[in-house]
Amino acid sequence: MRTEIHTFLQQEIKYLPGVGPRRAELLHKELEIACYRDLLYHFPYKYLDRTRFYTVREIRPDLPAIQVRGRITSMTRVGAAPRERLVMSLSDDTGTVPLVFFKGIKYIAASVRPDTEYVIFGKPTLFNGSLNLVHPEIEPLARQEEGFSVGLQPQYPSTEKLRSHYLTSRVLHKLMATLWAGLPGQIPETLPEGMRSRLGLPSLHQALFDIHFPQTPELLRKAEYRLKFEELFYLQMNVLSSKMYRKNTVPGFRFEHIGQLFNDFYENHLPFRMTEAQKRVIREIRRDLGLGRQMNRLLQGDVGSGKTLVALSAMLIAIGNGFQACMMAPTEILSRQHLDSVSRLLEGLPVRIALLTGSTSRAERKQIAEGLMEGSIHLLIGTHALIEETVQFRNLGLVVIDEQHRFGVAQRAALWQKNECPPHILVMTATPIPRTLAMTVYGDLDVSVLDELPPGRKPVMTYHYYDMARRKVFRFLREQLALKRQVYVVYPMISESEKSDYENLERGFAIIREAFPESEYTVGMVHGKMKNEDKDLMMRLFKSGDLQILVATTVIEVGVDVPNASVMVIESAERFGLSQLHQLRGRVGRGAEQSYCVLMTSVKLSQDARKRIEVMVETNDGFRISEVDLDLRGQGDIEGTQQSGKGLRLQIADLARDGQLLQFARNQAEEILEADPLLNKPENHILKEECARRKTTPINWGRIG
Ligand code: ADP
Ligand code: MG
Repeated sequence: MRTEIHTFLQQEIKYLPGVGPRRAELLHKELEIACYRDLLYHFPYKYLDRTRFYTVREIRPDLPAIQVRGRITSMTRVGAAPRERLVMSLSDDTGTVPLVFFKGIKYIAASVRPDTEYVIFGKPTLFNGSLNLVHPEIEPLARQEEGFSVGLQPQYPSTEKLRSHYLTSRVLHKLMATLWAGLPGQIPETLPEGMRSRLGLPSLHQALFDIHFPQTPELLRKAEYRLKFEELFYLQMNVLSSKMYRKNTVPGFRFEHIGQLFNDFYENHLPFRMTEAQKRVIREIRRDLGLGRQMNRLLQGDVGSGKTLVALSAMLIAIGNGFQACMMAPTEILSRQHLDSVSRLLEGLPVRIALLTGSTSRAERKQIAEGLMEGSIHLLIGTHALIEETVQFRNLGLVVIDEQHRFGVAQRAALWQKNECPPHILVMTATPIPRTLAMTVYGDLDVSVLDELPPGRKPVMTYHYYDMARRKVFRFLREQLALKRQVYVVYPMISESEKSDYENLERGFAIIREAFPESEYTVGMVHGKMKNEDKDLMMRLFKSGDLQILVATTVIEVGVDVPNASVMVIESAERFGLSQLHQLRGRVGRGAEQSYCVLMTSVKLSQDARKRIEVMVETNDGFRISEVDLDLRGQGDIEGTQQSGKGLRLQIADLARDGQLLQFARNQAEEILEADPLLNKPENHILKEECARRKTTPINWGRIG
């Protein structure tokens, strides 16, 4: 019985009556539906409420799609092709409303019978002051009573391409009905009986039926809850069990003591007091490093919270214990900046540092390679170049990955293989990640949070201006420049290959040059296509104060630290994502002066863009911004999820909305794994099976290397 249903669910979708090879190919390409089971797990994204009928008199233009029952009392074709339209009157006891069709006129006109009762379903609109329904669904009442479109009507995700091949939501629903009718038995349960009854969850069979064919809102709600819970629960089971596995089995170097080096640094070289949050996180890291198990820690902290210092402390502990450390940054500019600031902080301490980037010469490379092998280089800073195969360490003890969202998992993995025993890993985020994402995508890491900014920071003040107010903005910039501050002006560079982006940048530069002439102001420009030396020179000139205005693309987005810069102007701000905007804003407000961020946009803004701008103006809190970002973009689009291999593709749960359920599911998973880590108890048999089946997302860091 079980095998029969399994075989059924694994059948290729082309065998489902009504599909066939051509549609099968489309379903596969567009929706990744390959077998019956995939179709069954293609869930509706919303439901139209067709439980209620409206009378004609009740129709108002502000109603959503509604249904009305009545007869077609007249039918006329108005106008001539291609403007021709078909206007029918739908009447019930309370009145008459026009139905208007622009397409498929012939077919519709031919199929409608005057003496039949119809059910109309559509959105009322106001046209030229009178109410009508444009292109409503129209179906004889008799057919409807066969049960197809009663109650809550599911709407399935579809694509333009599918629709053009008549694979509409409605057709998908019909296919679903065909599939369901052919089921050779109950769909096997995937949650333990005990858990289901304890939590009051319907069976999987029931839930799948109700999600596709909901008879009442209550049944639908229960089905959604069960399916969401299950999805999040198994995600957490896998994340937590790989974390447990790693903690119990992957060995790691034991850093016996905190080391003289760190102590010396802390007592004699620190230019400021650490924040309490920094101290706490360093303690957390210190504890990890002493356990003899590999550390995998995610360090979250808002822009400017001082993550680098924490990383440096961890590296000093490693070096003080006789190991090497390396720190990888996403760009050349950042690597150099890290080198500069780390060298400055470590002045006088016996630490040898080297820089390795794409532009390191062959000869230098060779020297570095030797130094690393011998162990005379203690600390290596650099870009992706660090993870090339030729780079070999003598005893790499700790890897710090800065601004991690720029790195792919495969790249991280490469670092692991540089040792017999894997080095400890500290991953730092560029901007905060919503809690729910941290629990899933990075859920098998330990997380530390820097929730405090160094003292004396004034929150950046953010303003939104439309393009036509540019002169006013320029006036403000002049005032700031007169106070000896510096200014960034950033242009969007969505893709390095797009010519128009460079044109915008050049034009922007010209405009700035005109408003801030050479005779009075120094202006520089930096973008990704420049040679590294030139980029570097510009950054250096800006850092040293020799440039007052830096016109740039997002190459300066992450990490760049010039405390005297107090204004960040972002042109075409509507084209940036929220985390980018927040990162860019984080380039100012790093010194003691009041800093400003000016978001320039055109007047026409999409709803989402407006929301992004609004939230930027309203708050400086990166955690809050990340939540809004998640909500606006959806989890599939968030950087970091895409990068975790295939991305986090949830079928029904939504990390922006189901945070509470996620926490609940995590707690359940924790309880179970604590009591039965390997899931060997008979009542957990089902869990073990399901966990194995679903072991694909998220990427399992613990097993790599
Ligand atoms: P981020 O977390 O964004 O990477 P950084 O590590 O670049 O932040 O730190 C931002 C700035 O704050 C740097 O100039 C750094 O020197 C400074 N800083 C870090 N910690 C402290 C502290 N405890 N007190 C004062 N300034 C600090
Ligand atoms: Mg940083």
